Amino acid sequence: MSWNNRENNSTNPLDQTPVIDRCINCGDHEQVHAQITMEFGEGNLNTGPICKKCYASNRGPRIAQF
Ligand SMILES: [Zn+2]
Repeated sequence: MSWNNRENNSTNPLDQTPVIDRCINCGDHEQVHAQITMEFGEGNLNTGPICKKCYASNRGPRIAQF
């Protein structure tokens, strides 16, 4: 932990491990498992973190087909 670092003195969960971020799939703040690219609509790609729950249901990082 680097809580004494003034440049990094925040309560941002990204500063901690495990990483907690907003899952691009379910929108919940969960423990991030990986970065994936999803497709929302036609050619509308979105890359971001995916939580363990969604990662497990998607069985690995991939481009979701809608
Ligand atoms: Zn999720």
